[in-house]
Amino acid sequence: MSRATSDFIPAQIVQKKRNNEILSEQEIQFMVDGFVHGSVGEGSFAALLMAIFFRGLNPDETLSLTKAMLNSGETIRWDNPKVFHVDKHSTGGIGDKTSMILAPIVASLGVKVPMMAGRGLGHTGGTLDKLESIPGFNTQLNLNQFKSQIEKIGVAIIGQTPQICPADKKIYALRDVTATIESIPLITASILSKKFAEGADGLVLDLKVGSGAFMKELSQARELADSMMRVCHLFHKKITVLLTDMNQPMGRYAGNCLEITECIDVLKNSVTAPADVRSLSLDLSAEMLLLAGFGDFKTSRAAAEKAIVSGQAYEKFAQLCAAQGGKLDKLPTPKPRAFFKAKTDGFMNYLNTESLGWVGVAIGAGRKINTEPVDFQAGLEFHKRQGDPVKKGDILYSIFSKSDELSEVALQRLEQCTEISLQTPTFSSLILERKSASDQ
Ligand code: URA
Repeated sequence: MSRATSDFIPAQIVQKKRNNEILSEQEIQFMVDGFVHGSVGEGSFAALLMAIFFRGLNPDETLSLTKAMLNSGETIRWDNPKVFHVDKHSTGGIGDKTSMILAPIVASLGVKVPMMAGRGLGHTGGTLDKLESIPGFNTQLNLNQFKSQIEKIGVAIIGQTPQICPADKKIYALRDVTATIESIPLITASILSKKFAEGADGLVLDLKVGSGAFMKELSQARELADSMMRVCHLFHKKITVLLTDMNQPMGRYAGNCLEITECIDVLKNSVTAPADVRSLSLDLSAEMLLLAGFGDFKTSRAAAEKAIVSGQAYEKFAQLCAAQGGKLDKLPTPKPRAFFKAKTDGFMNYLNTESLGWVGVAIGAGRKINTEPVDFQAGLEFHKRQGDPVKKGDILYSIFSKSDELSEVALQRLEQCTEISLQTPTFSSLILERKSASDQ
């Protein structure tokens, strides 16, 4: 017989998980509801997160956590349930900006894209912070505004709100400052509760693997993929997972408005658009279109590419920004304040991509505490790809920051992230593995 939740004591539930016992659905629901409504304190919830981080959750507990987070707010029901809604989510990386490119591509081809994204988490950047660097862009639409924008223009990108997925809004911010991010059940519940709340029928997951990702090893990434696929299956949702390399930053920039400029370059089919960002955005778009029944992969990818070349994807992006109040003509154009140069000849070797993300946090592009505003103009430009030949004196990084002191912090930290090797260092292909529901 289940116990009445009035009998639960937060510290006892934390103790149970600390001691590696299994939590019931009611206990998990009690903690999540209590944290959202204030009857479970931040201290108790932070301790629970740390206990979960070390002890893990079994598949039933992971499912219970996803349900509790999903049910913390309202969920969207579409007027026409026959219309397929598809979304994409990344587990997070450095310079990872594909959401802002693929959402308009897919929507411009007539497929609905409701997207609920996140802020920067740990050393990684967040889609919401990037979009908010466009002056006026509002990521906090209410449910009706979100729904009607999807009906009207086929795409909307918002964050968790007090109405939709409030549990993830609070838990995400707490994980960010309590070093409890890299946990398979916490990532599973965080991403899927948002996706189920926004009414997505299908999800393409870009699961980053490598030194700049939360999953450093392929084995962990496969475990996370399995966890996400299991929960999606139980919720009757379609999912495709691409395991992609994050051993070097993506594209040329990391930093909020710098990355928006780069997305615009891709969407405008500019010659300066970085090949890796363009190619992964097209692959992910094609996977989304495939899930939505648009056509086979080849046809879908060709259509996605045509949407860029014809300008219709950029037009959709401009429409999305206008609908959410963003003024693209007011996007700042920051200037670099300092440069990190090579001290020897050799080949570029990114030693630790996570540390590059922490350089971004240190200079204000991310948050050190969760109430801190981000500096939208701060960031880094990466002048070399892994393995590129380097000559002494070449610029490896440009630093965008609001003070010389912060630039100095960046210059010192960058020493630890970079090596000029004598031989060409190894690097992986961008897409490492693909998993879809039919593999289960
Ligand atoms: N993205 C999310 O939304 N949640 C996580 O936990 C990690 C990445």
